[in-house]
Amino acid sequence: MADYNFDLFVIGGGSGGVRASRMAGLMGKRVAIAEEYQFGGTCVIRGCIPKKLFVYASQYGEDFEDAAGFGWSVPERHFDWTTLVANKDKEIARISDLYTQNVLKAGVEIFLERAELVDAHTIRLKKSGRTFTAQYILIATGGRPSNETLAIPGVEHGISSNEAFYLKQLPRRVIVVGGGYIAVEFAHIFHGLGCDTTLVYRGDRVLRGFDDDLRNCLMAEMQRNGLRVLCHRNFTRIDKGDGALFALTDHNEVLEADQILLAVGRRPNTDGLGLEEAGVALGEKGDVKVDKYSRSSVPHIFAIGDVTNRLQLTPVAIHDAMCFVRTVFEDTPTPVDHHLVPTAVFSRPEIASVGLTEARALEAGYGIDVYRSTFKPLKHTLSGRDTRSQFKLVVDSATDKILGCHIFGFDAAEIVQIVAVALKMGATKAQFDATVALHPTAAEELVTMREKSYSKSP
Ligand code: FAD
Ligand code: NDP
Repeated sequence: MADYNFDLFVIGGGSGGVRASRMAGLMGKRVAIAEEYQFGGTCVIRGCIPKKLFVYASQYGEDFEDAAGFGWSVPERHFDWTTLVANKDKEIARISDLYTQNVLKAGVEIFLERAELVDAHTIRLKKSGRTFTAQYILIATGGRPSNETLAIPGVEHGISSNEAFYLKQLPRRVIVVGGGYIAVEFAHIFHGLGCDTTLVYRGDRVLRGFDDDLRNCLMAEMQRNGLRVLCHRNFTRIDKGDGALFALTDHNEVLEADQILLAVGRRPNTDGLGLEEAGVALGEKGDVKVDKYSRSSVPHIFAIGDVTNRLQLTPVAIHDAMCFVRTVFEDTPTPVDHHLVPTAVFSRPEIASVGLTEARALEAGYGIDVYRSTFKPLKHTLSGRDTRSQFKLVVDSATDKILGCHIFGFDAAEIVQIVAVALKMGATKAQFDATVALHPTAAEELVTMREKSYSKSP
C-alpha cells in the first residue's frame, strides 16, 4: 500500500465534514480536516442556528400582543438590533469553538485554510502552499447563495442570507426575493422585527414542493398579518440612488427598499477545487455526482452534504457522514437513506412535513384517504389572534399506512420530528387511532381525526 500522510483528508468543516472527521479520528484513523472560514459551516455560522435565534427574536412582538388577552399589560416595547446581532455572534463563536475542540479531541489535525486537489490523492493548502497525500478524500464543502442566477442589471445591490446575519442596522423597508425556505423564513424574521417587508416570488404560491393545503394556509396567514406578498413577479433591474434601492418588476412596478435580500437558491461549492482535474465527475449545478454510498466517480473520493445537491439539510449531511464512515472504515457498506426525512420552515406559524404530500402520493400511484383538521389553537381563544392551525394525514387506502403528515401551526416542527419516528416504523392510521390523546394539546389532533375528509384515486 502506498504511504499516505493521512488515511482521510476532509475538505470542509461544516456539519458533514466535522462529523466524518471526528468519527474516523475516534476510530484511530489518521485524519486531517481543512476549513477555509469558520468551523461549524453553514448551519452554525450562517444558517440554521443564527436563523433560529433570529426567528425567536422576531416572535416576541406577537407574544407581547397576545399577552393582553391573558390580563398582562406590556409597557412600551423597544427592539435593539445590535444587541441581537452581538448576542447571536457570541453564541455562534461559542458553538464554533466547541466544534473545533471536539475535532481536536478526536485526534484530528486541523488546517484553517482553503484546500484544493492537486490530483486524486494529493491536497494542497492554498495559503501555506503545503501539500499532503491521503488514502481517502472526503469533499464536504457545502454550498453558497447563487444570486448570480438572477442575471439582471444591479443584482450586486442585493444581499444574500450570508450578509443578512451581519447587517449593521435593521432596515426600515426590506424586499425578499424568492419563495423557498430562506425567503419565507427571512421575510417572517424581518416582518416580525417590525420592518416593512415585501416578499416577491415568481410563482403562484410560496414553498413549491410542500403540501398545497399548507402553502395555502401560509399564504393566507402572511396576508392577514400584513406581510406583503407579490406573486407572479420577476425583477428586471435594481438601481441604487438617494440612499434607497429601486427594483423594477416585469409588471412595471418600482418597489423601493433599504435592503433587498435575494434568496433564489444555492450552488454547490466546487469552483476551483481541482475536482475535474482529479477525474471527479460533476453534475449540472457543479454538484459532485455520487452513488448511494456517497462515492464519486473516483473510487476513493467521496462527497457528502450540500455539495452533492441531494437534500440540503443539516441532519442529512450528518447522516451522510455516518454512512460514509461505516462504509469506508467499518467495512460495512451503508447506503444513505433519504427516505422520510422530516423538514420544517420556520415561518409564523411553522410548516412541518414528513413523507408524501397529497400530490406526490397520487403521482406515485397511491389511492389515498386524507384526514384534515383546521382549528383555532386554544391559546388564541383568549389572545384574540385570528390564526388557524391545520393538521393533515395522507393515508394509503389499500394498506392504511400513513404516507405523509403535514402540519401548519405552532410547534409543528417539534411535533413532526416525533411523527417521523412513527412513519419510519411503518405506522398505520389504525395505530394512530389506537393511541390515547394527550390533552389539551394541538398534537392530539393526530390521534383524534376519525372522519375521513376525502379520498382520491391516482
Ligand atoms: P456546510 O455546513 O456548508 O459546510 C461546508 C464547509 O466547507 C464550510 O464551512 C466552508 O467554509 C468550507 N469550505 C468550502 N470550500 C472549502 C475549501 N475548498 N477548503 C476548506 N474549506 C472549505 N438545514 C436544516 O436542517 N435546518 C435549518 O433550519 C436550516 N436553516 C438554514 C438556513 C440558512 C440561511 C441556510 C443557508 C441553510 C440552512 N439549512 C438548514 C441548511 C444547512 O445549513 C445545510 O444543509 C448544512 O449546513 C450542510 O452541511 P455541509 O456539511 O454539507 O456543508
Ligand atoms: P430553495 O430552493 O428552497 O428556494 C429557491 C427559491 O428561489 C424558489 O422559490 C425558486 O422559485 C426561486 N428562484 C430560483 N431561481 C430564481 C430566479 N432566477 N428568479 C426568481 N426566483 C428564483 O432555496 P433557498 O435558497 O431558499 O434554500 C436553499 C436550501 O437550504 C433549501 O432547499 C433547504 O434545503 C435549505 N434550507 C433549509 C431550511 C430549513 O430546514 N428550515 C432553511 C433554509 C434553507 P421556484 O419555486 O419557482 O423554483
